Amino acid sequence: MTSKRVPSQTIAVAGAGLIGLSCALELSARGHDVTLFDPRPAEMSTGWAAAGMIAPAYELMLQSGPVDSAFAAFCFESARLWSGFAKLIKLQTGSPVALSNAPTLALARNTEEQARLDALADLLCDLGRACQRLSGRTLQNQHGLSSSVMSGLQLPDDTQVDNRRVIGALRRHFSAEGRVITSAVSSHDEMEALTGKTFDTIIWARGTAETGSKTEVKGQAISLSPVPGQPANVLRFGARYIVPKADRTIIGATTEPDFKGKGIDPSIADLLHEEAARILPQLAAANRLEHWAGFRPLGPVERPLVGPKTAREFIATAHYRNGVLLAPATAKLIADQVEGLNYESAFSVFAPAPG
Ligand SMILES: Cc1cc2nc3c(=O)[nH]c(=O)nc-3n(C[C@H](O)[C@H](O)[C@H](O)COP(=O)(O)OP(=O)(O)OC[C@H]3O[C@@H](n4cnc5c(N)ncnc54)[C@H](O)[C@@H]3O)c2cc1C
Repeated sequence: MTSKRVPSQTIAVAGAGLIGLSCALELSARGHDVTLFDPRPAEMSTGWAAAGMIAPAYELMLQSGPVDSAFAAFCFESARLWSGFAKLIKLQTGSPVALSNAPTLALARNTEEQARLDALADLLCDLGRACQRLSGRTLQNQHGLSSSVMSGLQLPDDTQVDNRRVIGALRRHFSAEGRVITSAVSSHDEMEALTGKTFDTIIWARGTAETGSKTEVKGQAISLSPVPGQPANVLRFGARYIVPKADRTIIGATTEPDFKGKGIDPSIADLLHEEAARILPQLAAANRLEHWAGFRPLGPVERPLVGPKTAREFIATAHYRNGVLLAPATAKLIADQVEGLNYESAFSVFAPAPG
């Protein structure tokens, strides 16, 4: 990953959010001269609002329509790449990112959710992926969950990383090297005028600024102080989740495609907290630390847009619910395409339509 295989290029990355930073890391590790542009602090990016789940298996259940096999392969490939990517972040920045290896537990609270988990188990089996069915009693006795949980599935491919540590470490690293220009950009000429550099290649990774405001999906989430005896696993139930981190437990999230305002609704915080406490009763007494809203970048379909726009311009956006999961594979796909290498031809379907 770190060997320089082609001549070094001077590369501009528009957007220093999770995806732009990940592309910048991969490209600079390969010896390219990378400059990032972003007018806002990392704390205002969507990646900061995320829960950090790396969830290729559970995502299969959330996708609408039939299984998108190229997308599923990209998700599992990216989850596999996370271990090396976390090591690369640590090597380049000195900061660990708390990549967990605890498997996610997907939970059913009623017969409808149980049927969906059964279908997911069958699908994972067809794809040759592992999963293990768990009884309600096992989940209660071994993981301390409440009797409202009927059954579950253990998903070894699904885990989590601390997304704020990832983004914070990469932003600090590139800023300390003088490689982050704090300006909004929308053209090649602007980037050259701001830096006095001539860029061989441009990567457009401005999140919802690439996909447009009509394709943002709002998500509200809260964090609680960690409570003793809480399982180390990510817990998923329906569209909700409980994600334990060292310093906070994230409860999420809403999916609001037709939102009216960008603010937070206090009644949503109560709802999320109550639903989580029905799964893990000790969370009822946990202090609420934060409540926020983020805006997921969604393209024309539930697939990322990653690939060449023109000969020397590339796009990396529309990661919707899965920017954390897909960061390593997106960075590798972009870096390989920039270098004229063929990573995996099945992934060329993520390129934007010509024109
Ligand atoms: C509540 C919530 C929970 C989520 N949980 C998960 C999860 O658990 N797992 C997962 O995989 N995904 C999750 N996601 C999705 C994930 O956060 C996104 O897919 C990901 O952050 C997208 O990354 P990005 O870099 O494309 O966009 P962003 O993170 O938004 O970064 C885009 C950057 O571009 C900058 N920018 C904008 N305009 C310009 C401009 N003109 N010039 C230069 N820069 C510009 C912005 O300031 C920003 O820093 C979640 C999202 C939400 C909202």
